[in-house]
Amino acid sequence: MRRSRAFVPTTKEAPSDATLPSHKFLIRGGFINSQGAGLYNFMPLGKIVLEKIRAIVKEELDRSGCQEVQLSFVTPIGLWERSGRSEAMGKEMLRIKDRHENEFVLSPTNEEAMVEMVKNRVTSYKDLPLNLYQINTKFRDEARPRYGLMRGREFLMKDGYSFHSSVEDMIREFDLMEETYKKIFTRLGLDFRVVAADSGAIGGEGSKEFHVLANSGEDTLVVCEACDYGANIETIYESEEEIDALKIKSYEELQELTIEKRCSCGSELHFKKGIEVGHIFQLGTKYSAALEAHFNDENGRSKPFEMATFGIGVSRLVAAVIEQNHDESGCIWTKATAPYVVNIMISNIKDDAQVNLGEELYTKLQESNVDVMLDDSKERFGFKMKDAELIGFPYTVVIGKELENGLVQVFERKTKESISVKADEIFEKIT
Ligand code: ATP
Ligand code: MG
Ligand code: MG
Ligand code: MG
Repeated sequence: MRRSRAFVPTTKEAPSDATLPSHKFLIRGGFINSQGAGLYNFMPLGKIVLEKIRAIVKEELDRSGCQEVQLSFVTPIGLWERSGRSEAMGKEMLRIKDRHENEFVLSPTNEEAMVEMVKNRVTSYKDLPLNLYQINTKFRDEARPRYGLMRGREFLMKDGYSFHSSVEDMIREFDLMEETYKKIFTRLGLDFRVVAADSGAIGGEGSKEFHVLANSGEDTLVVCEACDYGANIETIYESEEEIDALKIKSYEELQELTIEKRCSCGSELHFKKGIEVGHIFQLGTKYSAALEAHFNDENGRSKPFEMATFGIGVSRLVAAVIEQNHDESGCIWTKATAPYVVNIMISNIKDDAQVNLGEELYTKLQESNVDVMLDDSKERFGFKMKDAELIGFPYTVVIGKELENGLVQVFERKTKESISVKADEIFEKIT
């Protein structure tokens, strides 16, 4: 993409209600804009990042044998009444009426609809297991839709549901999804932890959350540095007051506290702050029994499906990458999530030699399948540099005065260090 043609409306000012770095920088960098409380539009750069994350999620799930489907976002209230969740979901569930006064729900999650899809279509143990997922819009009328993409009301979630003929097989799939999720978050370039979690409104027994570690995270975790043990404090403290008191403490405040309990491996436990980006649950027969979704086992007996469910906050991940990777100047995208990995900056577009080299590198990088932006805008060099730092391209290749000596500068966003190299050597520096 050429910067001169790109719709990337960067601004100096952040909205007054933006407290989180990701909220500020995603708006200032022209990635998203707010359409109302908890409602966001993705502009071109934001859309590219979202699609890159979605593609990695899909690739790993498909590789693990999951199948993608798409459920209707609007769901009849009857579905939710049959499972008992019309009551349980409370005010987070947005209800609407059509012209005939029929009531509907904007899906906050889709256990019921997925069970209905499978019910009477899968009738034998021979057709199990089955793991179906979608990457689709969700709506939750959150009490406090603050923090930008982190807690939207409308947001993009990957929600998966698996169906099994036995508890053992359901647990096998649960473990497979844990491994698959680890691959996804590793590919995204994130520092994350898998922790024991509460099952909340969804219900069921075994439950694990995936947290991106960031000081601004809303959740408080207890983790062991020596092994991979971790737990959301919700699961290890008994009193609600104690949990609430720990939840509102900042990362710095938490570091002053010591945890008396030790990890089962013998090492010390520490408090961390995390952003919940994934959640997997062992559901058992909660929904299949309520909705009478049965299959016949080897002995011809009718049984409700054993189920598990698996969520990833796809749009929340866009913000989580930035919460973990930013500095005072703006975003620092990981290579897997960057809208463009390389930004080629022509310092002075009136200089033909600079323009020619810029065009040449732009073509070459595109031919090598590198996601590249060509900054051919008329702005001053200083402005362009600030803009590139705000947007957060991992690398900016600056074509400037040193071209007289056959050199360009490769600026690495993360370290803010520049090195001078010959133009044909940039490939080695950016991979
Ligand atoms: P939270 O505790 O943050 O409210 P949750 O436990 O209610 O999240 P789940 O029902 O587990 O959320 O949904 C699966 C995933 O969807 C979450 O792990 C999270 O990444 C994402 N998610 C949930 N609510 C939101 C939201 N309001 N905005 C963006 N992503 C969300
Ligand atoms: Mg919630
Ligand atoms: Mg939660
Ligand atoms: Mg959750």
